[in-house]
Amino acid sequence: MNFYILTLFPEMVMQGLNTSIIGRAVKNGLLNIEAINIRDFAQNKHGQVDDYTYGGGAGLLMQAAPIYRAYEHICEKIGKKPRVIYLTPQGDVFNQGYAEEFSKEEDLIFLCGHYEGIDERVLEEIVTDYMSIGDYVLTGGELPSMVMIDAISRLVPGVLNKQASHEIESFHDNLLEYPQYTRPEEWHGKKVPDVLLSGHHVNIEKWRREQSLKRTLERRPDLLENANLTKQDKKYLQSLKESDNI
Ligand code: SAM
Repeated sequence: MNFYILTLFPEMVMQGLNTSIIGRAVKNGLLNIEAINIRDFAQNKHGQVDDYTYGGGAGLLMQAAPIYRAYEHICEKIGKKPRVIYLTPQGDVFNQGYAEEFSKEEDLIFLCGHYEGIDERVLEEIVTDYMSIGDYVLTGGELPSMVMIDAISRLVPGVLNKQASHEIESFHDNLLEYPQYTRPEEWHGKKVPDVLLSGHHVNIEKWRREQSLKRTLERRPDLLENANLTKQDKKYLQSLKESDNI
């Protein structure tokens, strides 16, 4: 999968994405991540890419022309026009469902704003998706693009060691993951639940499913509305609601 990041701070995104699991996937050729410096496409010799906003107001706005030229450069290089994601607090809030959707694309362009944002006219011409990472305002789109690329990349086949591991973790099926434990068996007087030491796979699966349901009910009950629940799951949730456990 190929990611192209249009940014004024290429070193920031490349340093962050070249480490650990994503960095290894890049080395193994599963992912290709390129940061394109918008400043390289400025037309004046000072490399200016921003200017004052018409109508007044504090702060500078990124100009349309350098961004458009950088976008055209990518499209010409790869011979197609991929989806362009503009990171903006005004977009749809990114979630695991979007991560799954975007992971099916072969190429994605991320456009990172800075300062007060970007001239509306270039957004109208090139952007296909407006995405936010939450209801707060950051100084730039670099961190949001890294967040999205990380979440999308780990869904690309081969990026995680065990392909199955993302299929049992939080948000898959709209449930949160069950609690997990590693050695030692006892720490600070707290013991690992017996069932996990029993080696009885059916009981372990049942315990994990119930813990997942309980945790989702406690922490994110809104997710349950769209979860794929069996009759048994619903019965268990009902029993939790009736007891004073939650
Ligand atoms: N003036 C803009 C507004 O009110 O919508 C905010 C500009 S913000 C200071 C600068 C850039 O940071 C934005 O262009 C966007 O690329 C990025 N950004 C800030 N918050 C974000 C968020 N929650 N999600 C995604 N991108 C964000």
